[in-house]
Amino acid sequence: MQTSHQKCAFCNESLTGKNRSKEHIIPNAIGGRKKTTGFICNTCNNTRGEKWDSELAKQLNWFSLAVGISRERGEPPKQLVQTVEGDKYWLLNDGTFTPEKSSYTEDDQDGKIKISMTAKTIEEARQRLKGVSRKHPNLDIDKALNELEVKSDFLDSPLHVSLSLGGPDAGRSLVKTAFAFASACGVSHSFCDKANQYLQDESLEEIPFGFAYLSDLIQSRPKDRVFHCVSLHGDPKTKRLWSYIEYFGIFRVAVLLSASYTGEFKNEIYSVDPIDGSAVAVKVRPDVSLEELELIWSGAGYNKDVHLAAADYALPIILERGRSRTLDRTVREGFYYAAKQLGLKEGDEIPKEKAGEFTALMMEKLSPYIHHLVTSGRRPEQE
Ligand SMILES: [Zn+2]
Repeated sequence: MQTSHQKCAFCNESLTGKNRSKEHIIPNAIGGRKKTTGFICNTCNNTRGEKWDSELAKQLNWFSLAVGISRERGEPPKQLVQTVEGDKYWLLNDGTFTPEKSSYTEDDQDGKIKISMTAKTIEEARQRLKGVSRKHPNLDIDKALNELEVKSDFLDSPLHVSLSLGGPDAGRSLVKTAFAFASACGVSHSFCDKANQYLQDESLEEIPFGFAYLSDLIQSRPKDRVFHCVSLHGDPKTKRLWSYIEYFGIFRVAVLLSASYTGEFKNEIYSVDPIDGSAVAVKVRPDVSLEELELIWSGAGYNKDVHLAAADYALPIILERGRSRTLDRTVREGFYYAAKQLGLKEGDEIPKEKAGEFTALMMEKLSPYIHHLVTSGRRPEQE
């Protein structure tokens, strides 16, 4: 996307050389890809933009992990989740859960020491076994490591998931995204007065955006995937310059960039699948009324049924994604387990006479997951 802006939208510094930052329009921390260069300077991005984006990413982290988004750098941090029964687990980026705490017990049985250990990662187990071997020099570390079993936990109890997004920092990240997209679409920064005031003055109480749960603003929404999008709509007749933002199918806001817009007519959208970065063909309904938008911006954009419908659309897609990743992983683990037990090497064919045994061994690994599938099938608890 080409832009002709040469000054930072926040501090008015010229955007040249080192000071010219590449700004993600939708934060990369939640899976956004597209960047713009003519928006804000490096300093403003580092001192303010990143703080706002990291708060937003923190609040949406469960969704990032559950969907399995991809980022340019690093992975979403693991997150402590709690089941409704009160057990705590770390949710990792590959969709697996490990217990919050590691355990270690030593049991003296007639002079023989029996050690039981649960570690969160193989590396942690390795480190701890080294420590144990200092205390018990007879311990054969290599043998113990070979006996290590990698086990994924399946949660049979629903999780608490927060379906709300809030606070001034996360809100500023949303407004910044709308502003950055307008900038990337060639709109002069001076046209985005409402957004700019809100971002510049952190004490400002007038909020230029609101939750958009009065109707579904998206036309022909795909039923099998969730997406992120940011749109831009400018109309010199109504004087409104505004943007619709949706994250993970469920977080939906409309941002008022200006109420005195006199530029040219604009109707643009950028959408992205946070899993693989591909574009998703969606549009904002052309018949969204100014009345509905004014209600949203005045803070009256919440309708419980529409919000529930958004959750009903997004959560099954997100959970199904988690399920298919878990199934893939479990089958893989089962395959390696069975191969190891039968002494097969990678690339070996499974001998016909061992096929039955192989399947039985695989089922040993798969049955806890199948049991989990049968007994769960419940949705996360909504807050
Ligand atoms: Zn700046």
